[in-house]
Amino acid sequence: MPARRTFLASTAALSAAAALSPRLFAAGTDEKKKLGYALVGLGRLSTNQLAPALEKTEHAKLAAVVSGTPSKRDKWRAKYDLGDHVYTYEQFDRLADDDAVDVIYIVLPNGLHAEYTIRGAETGKHVFCEKPMANTAEECRQMIAACEKADVKLGIGYRCQFEPHHLKAMETVRSGGLGELRGLGAGFGFKMPADADPDQKLHWRLNRELAGGGPLMDVGIYALQFCRYMTGREPISVTAQTTLTESIKFRQVEETLGWTMTFPSVLESEAKERNLPEPLRAQVTASCATTYNFGGFNQGEAFGEKGSVLLKPAYSYSGLDGSVKGEPMNLDTPDQFAVEIDAFSQSVKQKSPFKCPGEEGLRDLLAIEAIYQAAETGRRVEVAQL
Ligand code: NAD
Repeated sequence: MPARRTFLASTAALSAAAALSPRLFAAGTDEKKKLGYALVGLGRLSTNQLAPALEKTEHAKLAAVVSGTPSKRDKWRAKYDLGDHVYTYEQFDRLADDDAVDVIYIVLPNGLHAEYTIRGAETGKHVFCEKPMANTAEECRQMIAACEKADVKLGIGYRCQFEPHHLKAMETVRSGGLGELRGLGAGFGFKMPADADPDQKLHWRLNRELAGGGPLMDVGIYALQFCRYMTGREPISVTAQTTLTESIKFRQVEETLGWTMTFPSVLESEAKERNLPEPLRAQVTASCATTYNFGGFNQGEAFGEKGSVLLKPAYSYSGLDGSVKGEPMNLDTPDQFAVEIDAFSQSVKQKSPFKCPGEEGLRDLLAIEAIYQAAETGRRVEVAQL
């Protein structure tokens, strides 16, 4: 069996190299210091993934929390020894005076990302925001502007862009390893539990104001991302349609949505400028879908003239699997949250560009808005470009 590799190892190698080459880092930064993160919103992701990840990170640690629930504040204060670094939402702006906090991590329902990212930037702290970046492209633009004005870094939580299976697939496709790229297929969905809508009181993921939309905003965005980073291009037009079986539960957001995206052919001049190999220059269509109506749908595949790259499961927290032209990848799945948090922390410390800045979140929202418009009108819709 080929040697198994972990991405954390390469992060460690980067740190080791940095220790030998202090000039890699901006003057005045302490590469060894762990940045303090304030988690805002103590729901499932913060509890089950982010707090454990922040115990594994080399460049970050949990420093503070913000929650509206007194029992959660007490529990987290005791469990993580947080002392006074525990805040209510009303006290959020006091993070400005908390020297233990370097980065504010927004883990709230999607409809609250813009407000808390903008207020976070105004505290002067760097901001890391969960996907989807916001409900609309306009909100994304306001978030980017607020972070630019405050001169703080903004990162979006696209963990798969740091994950070894995705990196291997991306590298294979974008180096022309499949020959000419001919098409893409990707989808992600799960069955929303029946009790998600008890007494007709909508869970936030089914509430348009809080979620911005249905499964496309929540999990379909992974399939959209997959197609964008496999091609290294932006979709120029989309078509879409929805299906509905539970009209009461899904009265505000879509239940199942299928869409296609056309990625443009690349002009000779642009191809040369971006160093794109010949096989990646032709127009490509991606077929995608997302749902809250069935599980086990979790894959991404890129088809070329010489075979395909398949990831399945593609977007889970652990146990990802993949193959290149039928050959298993044999890679480990690291703690994706620890890896992305360390990557963001290093870019803050080094004052270097982060792989998934606000513009990356905005590009997804531009495509998502076009997809919703296409589903509503039944027409092909052009995607606005950045
Ligand atoms: P969750 O429902 O488990 O937690 C949301 C938290 O927000 C809760 O603690 C809730 O009390 C709090 N909250 C504050 N104001 C609220 C309001 N007005 N209405 C409802 N809740 C409110 O959700 P989650 O699964 O932790 O998701 C949080 C964010 O993280 C979402 O943006 C989601 O898309 C994202 N997420 C990302 C990943 C990933 O893999 N990157 C995975 C899951 C969730």
